[in-house]
Amino acid sequence: MSKLRFRVVETAFKKKIAEVALATERPSEYFGTYVFNREKMFKYLPEKAYEQLVNSIDNGTPLNHEIADAVANGMRKWAMEKGATHYTHWFHPLTEGTAEKHDAFVEHDGKGGMIEKFSGKLLIQQEPDASSFPNGGIRNTFEARGYTAWDPSSPAFIEGDTLCIPTIFISYTGESLDYKAPLLKSLEAVNKAAVDVCHYFNPEVKKVYSYLGWEQEYFLVDEGLYAVRPDLLLTGRTLMGHESSKNQQLEDHYFGAIPTRVMEFMKELEQEAWKLGIPLKTRHNEVAPNQFELAPIFEECNLANDHNLLIMSLMRKVSRKHGFRVLLHEKPFKGVNGSGKHNNWSLGTDTGILLMAPGKTPENNLRFITFVVNVLKAVYKHNALLKASISSATNAHRLGANEAPPAIISSFLGAQISKVLENLENSDSEDFKLAGKQGLKLDIARIPELLIDNTDRNRTSPFAFIGNRFEFRAVGSSANCAAAMLVLNSAVAEQLKAFKAEVDAKIAAGKDTFAAILEVIRKDIKECKAIHFDGNGYSEEWKEEAKRRGLDCETSVPLIFDAYLKESTVKMFESLGIMSKKELEARNEVKWETYTKKIQIEARVLGDLAMNHIIPIATKYQSPLIDNVYKMKELFPADKASQLSSRNLEIIEDIANRTNFIKEKVDEMIEARKVANKIESEREKAIVYHDQIVPMLEEIRYHIDKLELVVDDQIWTLPKYRELLFIR
Ligand code: ADP
Ligand code: MG
Repeated sequence: MSKLRFRVVETAFKKKIAEVALATERPSEYFGTYVFNREKMFKYLPEKAYEQLVNSIDNGTPLNHEIADAVANGMRKWAMEKGATHYTHWFHPLTEGTAEKHDAFVEHDGKGGMIEKFSGKLLIQQEPDASSFPNGGIRNTFEARGYTAWDPSSPAFIEGDTLCIPTIFISYTGESLDYKAPLLKSLEAVNKAAVDVCHYFNPEVKKVYSYLGWEQEYFLVDEGLYAVRPDLLLTGRTLMGHESSKNQQLEDHYFGAIPTRVMEFMKELEQEAWKLGIPLKTRHNEVAPNQFELAPIFEECNLANDHNLLIMSLMRKVSRKHGFRVLLHEKPFKGVNGSGKHNNWSLGTDTGILLMAPGKTPENNLRFITFVVNVLKAVYKHNALLKASISSATNAHRLGANEAPPAIISSFLGAQISKVLENLENSDSEDFKLAGKQGLKLDIARIPELLIDNTDRNRTSPFAFIGNRFEFRAVGSSANCAAAMLVLNSAVAEQLKAFKAEVDAKIAAGKDTFAAILEVIRKDIKECKAIHFDGNGYSEEWKEEAKRRGLDCETSVPLIFDAYLKESTVKMFESLGIMSKKELEARNEVKWETYTKKIQIEARVLGDLAMNHIIPIATKYQSPLIDNVYKMKELFPADKASQLSSRNLEIIEDIANRTNFIKEKVDEMIEARKVANKIESEREKAIVYHDQIVPMLEEIRYHIDKLELVVDDQIWTLPKYRELLFIR
């Protein structure tokens, strides 16, 4: 190992594990300490304000300014008691992170001094100077400013010395400039549509919640080593690096004992998360070395998503205290598994029914099958869009890389549910006996009693049914879950509405309700059959089969984004009032631009490293070899000398060939970028970056990785995979 690298490892090694004062109380005693939850609302708000705020949270009733003032005042009092001096509107611009701008709780008191103040006006709405956030042209077109507006359905919380108020981010003319606004609208749409369908079975249902339980995968690397890998630092992934001789082939990391240093990090992270009301539950080693996972208990989708964004920023902070850097990139290391974010999703009623869970009675099972089939049909109809919702320059490395499903959306149901659907599809209504005794008791011979836990698992499916929920596994580890969740909830809402219209038409024509439902389900099962696939999603045959079935098989990310502008997509979002065509177009501009920029940065970093690290180092190693060959000639007769130098000659030539290739490719890549950068259309530009630049990155890397194997380890300055990937 080179001296430089050794020093870095040493520093990191010697850095004492942060001496964190770990809480000794039980989590239940301090859970939510830093959250303005109902308990604190009750304590800090006047009775009327409390009642109206709770009503607003539960039923979406608007709050007037007087109440907002009372809420702001109560929040400020509580926050100041907890040591907060500032507040911020906390929002999710289209950058995949969160944004905040802090203001102190101070105002002039009119007598030359200061008082602490926070008004309802400031709580409800702000106008951040947000001209630098991506907006896809919306804010230019409309000459409009951006506003953040309070989302009372997600509670305010304190981070450090700042009271954070979850907000949506919209333009002056009302277009969404973030993920939260359309997510909230999609949740409302699915609520309405699902309540209506529930009423066929349970008239007392008033509200349907969409639930999300995310599982977050991540890598940890030593901070010292991270600091001397410019590629990790600037792009979040290694753009070069030969596979370590040992990586994950022994499968000894998965669920293995968690390294002590990592455990300390996890403990502190959990405690910080619990204080912020994030119900973390699970932690374990993942498949790749240095890869881990955490997961909370599922929550209402909007809150769960805020919590995911919050945990990502907490992970970044806490990891540094422990001498680590957390990598949320989908593919930080070639040759070992990448990271995803499984989104466990379901719908549930205010009466406590999980709509994706089988029940004990035939009616309950009919309700269950109704919802499952509607979800399948929604996923079928919008499979290309769902893929677009999880696609990004970074997630593209993971999908289809034999560790995650291919870039094709299909759904796994397991043997039992598959059988039920098959039976339903192949029988006609006479097979079902309706035994009416006090209302309706549906005795459907073909629907057996289903048990929650009897579903099998299939890790290769991007959208798998698992007992009481679907698990959308294609979401990227760095993504904002809202992108995928708003598409899924919207698609399901649209489908449930269509389903209800069909069933109602049959009822109006004199059909019995359950018979009508069965008829529509039977038709739907047939129509969306193509989406159902229980086989091996990693196999080559599946790719062929999926093409035959007409599922979207596009693999180029810029082209995948086109699905956002398909007629069926625009129709869906517009009819549900979630997004307009204009918003969709603007957001796609942002997507294409972000894609291009990410690849552009990678290309620049790789070009730099190739020219000022790799070629100089390889050449430096080449020189003593050449020297050696000459000296051999002085020492030995010509024949013998050339025989003895044959290995060195080979290496000299190999280095020359590879460094020449690298230099030529880097030049070619720079030229290709120059041409691409002139392309005006963001879409076309992204396509060129995908088609031309991405393959060049791979070609250059290939030769760099080969050089890493021959060049003297003493002078190779970049930490290698074997150093990066095994935490000591
Ligand atoms: P896995 O076996 O897939 O690794 P985990 O236990 O790591 O499962 O995570 C499963 C996640 O699914 C958790 O967040 C859990 O709370 C969530 N979950 C469980 N039931 C539901 C449900 N009905 N709807 C949404 N999420 C759920
Ligand atoms: Mg899972």
